[in-house]
This record gives sequence, structure tokens and C-alpha cells, in this order.
Amino acid sequence: MKVNSVELVISAVKRDQYPNDPMPEIALAGRSNVGKSSFINRMIQRKSMARTSSKPGKTQTLNFYLINEQLYFVDVPGYGYARVSKKEREAWGRMMEEYFTNREELKLAVLIVDLRHKPTQDDVLMYNFLKHYEKPVLVIATKMDKVPKTKRPQHLKVIKNQLNIDPEDQIVLFSSETGEGKDDAWGAIRSIINK
Ligand code: GDP
Repeated sequence: MKVNSVELVISAVKRDQYPNDPMPEIALAGRSNVGKSSFINRMIQRKSMARTSSKPGKTQTLNFYLINEQLYFVDVPGYGYARVSKKEREAWGRMMEEYFTNREELKLAVLIVDLRHKPTQDDVLMYNFLKHYEKPVLVIATKMDKVPKTKRPQHLKVIKNQLNIDPEDQIVLFSSETGEGKDDAWGAIRSIINK
């Protein structure tokens, strides 16, 4: 998809701040440092629109990016960062639940994992959390440029097994470095939101 316009409409912390135009929303989740901002920037063809490596301690927000005045990417705060207080973790959990519960506009959740590694316990928890809301989940296995071609099928298998991925959910290999997988990722997103 050719991205002509991107606008950060709001960084929301609670429901009454969410946009109320009826555009489809795609939520993006991933462990801190997994490459989520890089994924978003590559998908929207912007160098640093989504802040890369946003460190914990900052206000945690849901960032609503309006793309081509057609759909929203909703960037949710990364998880799994060890040095986060219990209070911060709880606030994060409340914000996630508030967004995922009864959000009509939410059509798809994208979970970003690292193709190099077996998904962590936090990744498994997040996949199950997303499945709980009965929306399709698209898994993006990023940093594929770091895994030799011949080894990719094995890594893919480990990810599918560890997440116990629903056969209906798609998984796409991706590299923010090279842009490989970008067309597949947009294709998967469009096929789901146009259903
Ligand atoms: P975030 O915390 O999930 O938003 O992660 P970032 O997007 O900031 O990426 C974390 C680090 O991984 C940065 O140093 C990126 O340059 C690097 N990175 C992200 N995606 C890729 C990728 O596809 N390939 C390679 N080689 N490095 C990547």
C-alpha cells in the first residue's frame, strides 16, 4: 500500500480520548525493543514517526496514527521490560483492557515477535490476551535479515509451536532493515479489514 499521509491524531491514556471517527483500527503490540517502532516506520514509509526505543518511565499512551485517512495504527506500549514497577505494570494492564474491551473499531491485532528467538513467556501471554478478545491476530516475525534463509522455516516452526498459534492466524516474516515482508504485511492487513 502506498502511504500518502500519516498523522498522529492522539496519544490517549483513556477511553474518552480515543478518536471517534469510524475508521478501522489495527493495534500493534510487542515486547520492548522487539522492533515495533521500526516495523511501524517501515510500513508507513517514515523514518522516525513512531519513536524508536521509547524507554519505560515515560507516560504510557496509546498512539493513534491515522493513515491515508482510512485506518488507524494504534501503537500500544511495549511490554516485558524488567525494570518496571508494579504500579506501572498495573496501569499498563488497565489501559490495555480498557482499549481491547468492546472496541468496535478494532479489527485486527498485530503481534510483533523476533524471528531469531523463541517467543518469551510475555509474548505467549500477550498472544493469549489478544485471542481472548476474539479478533484476528497477525503475527509479524521481524528481524528476518538476521536469520539465514535456510534456517527460517525452523525458526518459524518454533514461533508457531511456542505461541500455539491458531491455524486461522497468519504469520508474516519481516525485516525493517530491508523492507522484505512489507507487501505481505499490508496484504494481510487489508484482507482482514476489508472482510
Ligand atoms: P521497539 O522498542 O520495539 O520499538 O524497537 P525498535 O524499533 O526501537 O528496535 C529495537 C532495535 O532493533 C533497534 O536498534 C533497531 O534498529 C533494531 N531493529 C528493529 N527492526 C529490525 C530489523 O528488522 N532488522 C534488524 N537488523 N534490526 C532491527
